[in-house]
Amino acid sequence: MATHHTRMLIIGSGPAGYSAAIYGARAMLEPIVVQGLQPGGQLTITTDVENYPGFKDVVQGPWLMEQMQAQAEHVGTRMMWDTIVEVDLANGSPFRAIGDSGDEYIGDTLVIATGAQAKWLGVPGEQELGGKGVSACATCDGFFYRGKKVVVIGGGNTAVEEALYLTNHSDDVTLIHRRDELRSEKILQERLFGSDKITPLWNKTVERFVAGENGALDHLVLVDTVTGEKSTVKADGAFVAIGHAPATELFKDKLPMDDSGYLMVAAGTPKTKIPGVFACGDVMDHTYRQAVTAAGTGCMAALDAERFLATLDFAETLPEPEAAE
Ligand code: FAD
Ligand code: NAP
Repeated sequence: MATHHTRMLIIGSGPAGYSAAIYGARAMLEPIVVQGLQPGGQLTITTDVENYPGFKDVVQGPWLMEQMQAQAEHVGTRMMWDTIVEVDLANGSPFRAIGDSGDEYIGDTLVIATGAQAKWLGVPGEQELGGKGVSACATCDGFFYRGKKVVVIGGGNTAVEEALYLTNHSDDVTLIHRRDELRSEKILQERLFGSDKITPLWNKTVERFVAGENGALDHLVLVDTVTGEKSTVKADGAFVAIGHAPATELFKDKLPMDDSGYLMVAAGTPKTKIPGVFACGDVMDHTYRQAVTAAGTGCMAALDAERFLATLDFAETLPEPEAAE
């Protein structure tokens, strides 16, 4: 078991963590990234990425994340294949974290980039058809279903926003909800019911996703929650929108969170309540949740960490105040 000390400890290796690392390394902070169970983050479970700036052609999510990791390493980041299981923030900087390996990480600053995970239904076909018709992000993948038939599963704000967004690409959007009442905000409901491109399908749960002969999604098998009757609905694309879960368990009772468990930061910054601890990417953002916004806030976290350290270093150069006579 080893102890690793760094000026900037980054937990998480998605676009937010890698971007913080690139900026931190170029500021000579010799960052350490603890990568967690999903090195590269959520984009490693998707295929085509078409909205990350810098690439004229479609790029693959796993490839994009390999590039970010390589860039972060190239400028001087140390990658640790470990998962943080405990953090100690109580005494301020330096912060202490313990890895699953038993290793100890000490960071003069801490950048939290543990992301969020879309919740999945956990029914047959869902995982197998990921990237082949089943998705959890309409903003990311809606474009691939232009002019096709799509369904959205869920009844909250995310589901309604996803359904509305999809009308930019498709005239045939079905919203499948397990009750006959939405929980989304009324204004979104008004927009949904006002759209002639969206058909709600009430009281239905998804039993399974079924592939066609080409291996891509063909239809869904549904069960009526009132009558128990089964039915099918054809779809080229299905968007599961039943919520996101931020990876914030580690920080419970240590950092303020909102009602959905997202870390709270000072408005427009990645600063948490504890000086020297920054949060970036999906773990503090339940609104945008995009790779480019995660990378942007990762950059902001590194710049703010650098400023925090400069203040700390300056304070250390000041003479001790003389004791009063
Ligand atoms: P994440 O990518 O979620 O990464 C979190 C990281 O934290 C992971 O590396 C994980 O291993 C690590 N971690 C978690 N807990 C710990 C721990 N305890 N210790 C150490 N490490 C830990 N966005 C787009 O812009 N374009 C797209 O086309 C697009 N497509 C998507 C397709 C799918 C199927 C999904 C699910 C998302 C998609 N997104 C897309 C959204 C995008 O992936 C996220 O917004 C982005 O990845 C968030 O980045 P992040 O760095 O905040 O966190
Ligand atoms: P949410 O409010 O928790 O809604 C999840 C929806 O999915 C609910 O309708 C729920 O059904 C359904 N659901 C959950 N598990 C399911 C399952 N296993 N099978 C079928 N359906 C299931 O999640 P969200 O919509 O992602 O919103 C999360 C938070 O972010 C909320 O606070 C929301 O207000 C916020 N948000 C805000 C905006 C905005 O302000 N524009 C946009 C997006 C999200 P039931 O209704 O039956 O429980």
